[in-house]
Amino acid sequence: MNLQAATVNRRVLIIDDNEAIIEDFKKILGAGLDGNGALSRAEAALFGDVDGRPVHPEFQIDGACQGQEGFALVEQAQRDNRPYAMAFIDMRMPPGWDGVETIAHIWQKDPRLQVVVCTAYSDYSWEEMSEKLELGDRLLILKKPFDNVEAYQLASALTMKWEMTQQAELKMSSLEEAVRVRTQALQTEIAERKLLETRLEQLSVTDPLTGLANRRRFADTLNAEWTRAQRTQKPVGLVMIDIDHFKQYNDHYGHIGGDACLRVVASELGRGTRGSMDLVARYGGEEFAVILPGADYDTTHAIAQRVCAAVAALNEPHAAAERGFVTISVGITSIVPSAVAPADQLVEIADAALYEAKRLGRNRVMGRRANGPGALPDQHELQIETAASD
Ligand code: GH3
Ligand code: MG
Ligand code: MG
Repeated sequence: MNLQAATVNRRVLIIDDNEAIIEDFKKILGAGLDGNGALSRAEAALFGDVDGRPVHPEFQIDGACQGQEGFALVEQAQRDNRPYAMAFIDMRMPPGWDGVETIAHIWQKDPRLQVVVCTAYSDYSWEEMSEKLELGDRLLILKKPFDNVEAYQLASALTMKWEMTQQAELKMSSLEEAVRVRTQALQTEIAERKLLETRLEQLSVTDPLTGLANRRRFADTLNAEWTRAQRTQKPVGLVMIDIDHFKQYNDHYGHIGGDACLRVVASELGRGTRGSMDLVARYGGEEFAVILPGADYDTTHAIAQRVCAAVAALNEPHAAAERGFVTISVGITSIVPSAVAPADQLVEIADAALYEAKRLGRNRVMGRRANGPGALPDQHELQIETAASD
């Protein structure tokens, strides 16, 4: 129960139009009132003491003869950040505000102030007061003529109550602050973890050399798009790409040179396709693949042609190749899948077309058109394209 004396607010305000009463209060609340410290001992008995001495410092008492004057003192105390803990307020104070009016004004400025109304007459019933004031638990009534000990105990108890309420609020707000800080830290941690997970997930499906989707992402996307196309009966286009004479390129320019070449071709593939609509992947080694959801055969073919021509147009030197620059061979197809057709079908057909492109001289796009939705290509009905970009 002991509060640190240094932190205890013992500021008391007396508002009474009778100056003699203000003086009485000062005497009652002042030290050594009865010459032998009876009241201080009474307080020590109530709130605890140290070595028989009272734990609290003296009351600091201000007086005002009118409600308005008292209100001004409360305002000033607020401004100075030295609020009063409690006030004794007379009920009748002609010609100014009466007690109830004074309290109403003061509580607007300082709602924490504990108040004792001193009244000789029943000017207001408790009900009438509670209609005019939001009483809460901060108002007590002291009937005049009051008993000195009673007044002293009220001052002690209410200053103590003010202090404890204050400390509880501080404790509460420091707890709230701790919770807020901890919550924020947790939120940051969760966000960082999510970001990390996303990055890891991204890394696990990305080819580190080219930054393109890796084989795993290719397979996942192909399966997803294939399944969707089975439902929507829309085509899926596939472009398979292989760099020509890349072994010779490596032999001539070294592995590091080969890596750089892979990156150059990869970024050209990104430029030539339909942005986020298509998935460009490194299929493995010097092979790439592009999935084109919704692209029919002609669209797929046009995009493949554009990419093939763009790589050649880079004019990236390839001293070991016949043409003298880096080229690619491309095989394409586009299929509207039947409900039972496996996604591998798309890869097999485009791969066969790529093989044709190699066989017919490289640096070209070859396509195989599937024979109707879901059907495997019929060798006799295959439309072999021979359009090359050179
Ligand atoms: P073709 O025109 O028929 O495709 O012939 P090619 O030489 O391109 O094909 P081949 O399959 O014989 O050679 C592919 C080469 O690609 C062999 C391998 O060392 C090289 N390669 C595969 N992956 C990488 C890589 O990550 N970096 C480098 N620098 N070379 C790679
Ligand atoms: Mg190859
Ligand atoms: Mg090759």
